[in-house]
Amino acid sequence: MGKRRIVVLGSTGSIGTQTLDVVRRHSDALEIVGLAVHGRIDELLAQAREFGVDHLAVGDKALADDPRCDEARTLVGELGRARCEAGTSSEPSFGVGPGAVAALTQLPEADVVVNALVGAAGLQASYETLAAGKVLALANKESLVVGGDLIMPLAAQVDAQRRAAGTAPAVGPAGALMPIDSEHGAIYQCLLGENAREVSKLWVTASGGPFRGKTRDQLLPITPAQALAHPTWNMGAKISIDSSTLMNKGLEVIEAHHLFAMPYDKIEVVVQPQSAIHSMVEFADGSVKAHLGTTDMRIPIQFALSYPDRWEAPVAPLDFRTLGTLEFAAPDTDTFRCLALARHAGETGGTLPCVMNAANEVAVAAFLAEQIGYLDIAACVEAAMEAHERVGVQPVESIAQLQEVDAWSRATAQSWCCRR
Ligand code: MG
Repeated sequence: MGKRRIVVLGSTGSIGTQTLDVVRRHSDALEIVGLAVHGRIDELLAQAREFGVDHLAVGDKALADDPRCDEARTLVGELGRARCEAGTSSEPSFGVGPGAVAALTQLPEADVVVNALVGAAGLQASYETLAAGKVLALANKESLVVGGDLIMPLAAQVDAQRRAAGTAPAVGPAGALMPIDSEHGAIYQCLLGENAREVSKLWVTASGGPFRGKTRDQLLPITPAQALAHPTWNMGAKISIDSSTLMNKGLEVIEAHHLFAMPYDKIEVVVQPQSAIHSMVEFADGSVKAHLGTTDMRIPIQFALSYPDRWEAPVAPLDFRTLGTLEFAAPDTDTFRCLALARHAGETGGTLPCVMNAANEVAVAAFLAEQIGYLDIAACVEAAMEAHERVGVQPVESIAQLQEVDAWSRATAQSWCCRR
């Protein structure tokens, strides 16, 4: 079998750089054919040189006139000439703006798109990846939270295409949509070889974040720097704040609902502060399968790219002799209200998760800019959701509709933050 050819969207972020690390160690099986960043052009150029990538995109439109863009055009031209002569690549390309990022999903030579974009901006790329019949390795959970009703039917189509074309594994899921999230990667693996109808519960584990055990009064004066320090996972700013508010876990509950076609009453969150158990699946006979491993995102990233195979990983294995105690607790949804809000949004469905997600993105940015307080994040999200429920939640119909709802929610949340 030839190499898997990969496009990485968000290649300079936490997931992106760890994806490149996996590719570096498995260059016999994986190859990068396209890279997209939001604004870090210098790092993009360094990555392009290292991996010989001649399809590049920069998402931030404001950088269109940056002189480094000329450098990027020259570079892809040089890298592309050698490839075109070998007949292994389409015309080299470099573009600026969200359209250029999404266009990388359509590269004829790409087999897999790793979507590690931040926020609802990732939905379009997820949709277009699957619409082009390619495998989507998804770190952008917002794609499913906001657009799961559109993404999952497309993924089922690509699964069917892969089975018909003989590119799917002989047994197990066809693999069109591979989650890059430690919890969902864990559940995916626990479900291999199992009958989904015999599942009685998905246990999504949560570290509890840096403020586990704190009261609302103690959370009131929390600063961005305090909220950015996560106890077990090293991640980008948006997801670190979401982890501290438990919104991340709320998004993951909705993500699990879509990915595994599970009703919400079969999805439970449990706090597991050591993050050694990445999630669990309970079956009809009471048996529970848990997925354990070192807390290193390169493992779930690699599994998404190696499936159905497993490869060696450059991480220290768990040593159970020194692991110590594993604790479990129910999440405190009175203090961490974002988790309850997300569950309500998911259970209601339609356009409400889109509103919740967009308002949360605005509120997190406002908190990081010190415009609103820590507890205001949940209050802002709740205000936007209530406003949307008053006018009426709609069934999800199209990307265009979701973009409109998203914009409305952002404006609503923005004006809420300005009134603080
Ligand atoms: Mg996660």
